Amino acid sequence: MEKINGRLLNWASILEPTTREQAERTAAMPFIHPHLALMPDAHLGKGATVGSVIPTDGAIIPAAVGVDIGCGMMAVRTQFSAADLTGPLDVLHGQISRSVPLSAGRYNKKVRPTAEPRVAELRAMPGVDQADGVAGNWPLQLGSLGSGNHFIEVSLDEQDRVWLFLHSGSRGVGNKLASVHIRRAQEWCRAQGIELADRDLAYLEEGTPEFDAYIEALRWAQRFAALNREEMMDRVAEQVGRFLKADVERLEQVQCHHNYTEREHHFGRDVWLSRKGAISAREGQLGLIPGSMGTASYVVAGRGNADSLTSSPHGAGRNHSRNAARRLFTRADLDQRMTGIAWGHSDAFLDEHPDAYKAIDVVMRDAADLVEIRHTLRQVVNVKG
Ligand code: 5GP
Ligand code: MN
Ligand code: MN
Repeated sequence: MEKINGRLLNWASILEPTTREQAERTAAMPFIHPHLALMPDAHLGKGATVGSVIPTDGAIIPAAVGVDIGCGMMAVRTQFSAADLTGPLDVLHGQISRSVPLSAGRYNKKVRPTAEPRVAELRAMPGVDQADGVAGNWPLQLGSLGSGNHFIEVSLDEQDRVWLFLHSGSRGVGNKLASVHIRRAQEWCRAQGIELADRDLAYLEEGTPEFDAYIEALRWAQRFAALNREEMMDRVAEQVGRFLKADVERLEQVQCHHNYTEREHHFGRDVWLSRKGAISAREGQLGLIPGSMGTASYVVAGRGNADSLTSSPHGAGRNHSRNAARRLFTRADLDQRMTGIAWGHSDAFLDEHPDAYKAIDVVMRDAADLVEIRHTLRQVVNVKG
């Protein structure tokens, strides 16, 4: 860990100067307590850096949570092992792809009976009025993947046991809620005559109705995101069960947000702890760190490192922008990297090439004082939107 100054601690050995400057701008905000923690996977984000942990006292920066409120991971260890996966995995890839709407803007046609209790829970929560206001079709969005880096995988661990692994967030409804409140924070700051180093660092002050409305929307969208992952996991488990002709037993289960805010106690104060591309890593707490579509991913246990505000990286983190990746990598190259994995075989995933991300082993080495590796996963099926 490197102390950049009293307000910014950095764990990233691979760090662009522009990312460091962005984190310094966020760390200089007056209500940061005690400091910002920059994770090994840090890279440029909107307003605040992806891969940063931002504790705020008396205020909150909506863009420091991110536009995909509640984005995160879920993993299940099943009773199956590699020896059970004898059928053609392309068939399983197809089954999973058809069981969940993939890609941006693709949603369910109806609410499945199994999803009804989840929809009812969300309907009963404060914040549902805001959700209805921005995206009345949110019940149809529940149980949909999204595009780009969101994925569903079937993976094997170091003992060849089968895991189901997925990544998604709060979909269109969460994105709209985030955008509304980022804009409101900008308007609020302008009305107060507050000068900002970056307009996306606009914040809301605790005690104002604007702040309360944001927290309400945030909590609702975080719950939506967790339920979205549960709904998809149910469907994926159903398909794996059909493929292997036996119901999936869940022997271990891990759920974690990596874009979210929680009230937490750090360095003597209760703060709003925003993890933007970071996971909670309290001592012994299980978490998930995906690598890329063609490299290892990890199930980890936190070490409770206080300086990191008990946090860890949430992935490898981008090393090249999507545009740069499209120029740098070829389809032949990606095909070769995906040998042995059932995947989407499409140029659409060129910008998701494993080398578009930081080397996951470097990230894990940087994170050695934050988490301990419990399981190492390698995907055999990769479904992306
Ligand atoms: P983010 O939540 O910031 O979009 O990214 C999460 C992380 O997921 C990325 O930093 C990257 O390390 C990882 N990742 C992206 N695509 C895939 C994939 O298809 N499979 C796995 N296992 N990891 C991925
Ligand atoms: Mn994510
Ligand atoms: Mn996301």
